[in-house]
Amino acid sequence: MRITAIREKTVGLDSPMRNAVIDFSEMTVSVVALISDVIRNGRQVVGFGFNSNGRYGQGGLLRERFIPRLSQADPAALLDDAGGLDPWRVWQTLMRNEKPGGHGERAVAVGVIDMAVWDLLAKLEDRPLHALLAQRWGRRPAERVWVYAAGGYYYPDRGIEQLQAEMRRYLDLGYATVKIKIGGAPLDEDRRRIEAVLGLLPAGGSLAVDANGRFSVADALSYGEMLAAYPLRWYEEPVDPLDFAGHAEVAARYDGPLATGENLLSMVDARNLIRHAGLRPDRDVLQFDPALSYGVVEYLRTLDMLESCGWSRASCVPHGGHQLNLNLASGLGLGGCEAYPGVFEPFGGFADHMPIEGGYVRLPDAPGIGLETKAALRPILEELSR
Ligand code: MG
Repeated sequence: MRITAIREKTVGLDSPMRNAVIDFSEMTVSVVALISDVIRNGRQVVGFGFNSNGRYGQGGLLRERFIPRLSQADPAALLDDAGGLDPWRVWQTLMRNEKPGGHGERAVAVGVIDMAVWDLLAKLEDRPLHALLAQRWGRRPAERVWVYAAGGYYYPDRGIEQLQAEMRRYLDLGYATVKIKIGGAPLDEDRRRIEAVLGLLPAGGSLAVDANGRFSVADALSYGEMLAAYPLRWYEEPVDPLDFAGHAEVAARYDGPLATGENLLSMVDARNLIRHAGLRPDRDVLQFDPALSYGVVEYLRTLDMLESCGWSRASCVPHGGHQLNLNLASGLGLGGCEAYPGVFEPFGGFADHMPIEGGYVRLPDAPGIGLETKAALRPILEELSR
């Protein structure tokens, strides 16, 4: 097996909404295709990756550094002893001549390629990634994965009625847990948004809120006092994602579940969070997104670290709302996976025609990650494969 070509493209997401910190009107995504010399059904087998959402496309780093390292490597250096593609050796090749620390945009660029490697590997084995992962780690893949609908962004010209209509749409789709943004409006308005959504949840439904790291510790605690009156599924990113001491102050005063981690881009950052942020393994939720943080190879290190620190994989509910994380949730036994119904398309979301039932979604049987099961994504994948 050889990789004969690597292609990349930056695609705009063109979404009008905003959270407490950024708007998404200029958000872009990098897509990478690893084209192999293996022919199936008359076509070369191709692995695809993209960088989730919320961090911008990484075309510069991909073109200048990471794709040249991969294409100039000895092909044998990317294979395991049995001659199969080896994600760990690919990862070592990508990270050659990189200093430790400083896990920023580079973690995103490597994550895109790593996703394509796992997609290619599973396609070469002609099975879904969740099945491959489960078998390699001696588990049974979960047939269905708990998912929740992340939305409730702030849109220009949308009020509480439109927020309720959006949430009803998610519930009608089959989600039981929904999430809305907070911190992008005054506290009293956010309180009204929360009450409006809680008022329409069915029995067994729940609501999470997400401040996107916007608050100072003092503001996070004020919000926490307001939020404590409601039965929330969790309070997400109350303070800056790297302010571990601030996070610990919030955790000491807010009894309900907290969630964070989507903006920590390495195992070492995740370990600092676990060591210093006062998080509680019996209730808190960890949202590291492998597509943004050096990929599956690094995520496996993070899971090992978590288990050695007394955490369960069931505490992990990755950010991102995409099919890589759905495969990981099923194949590695995570607690669930975020979803953004109708947002961040065509990259976000799961296989077409796969219904959400009681807050759970099943996975397609397609080989690889299953990106080809989304009709809206196929033209972009086709263009990169040619
Ligand atoms: Mg979030």
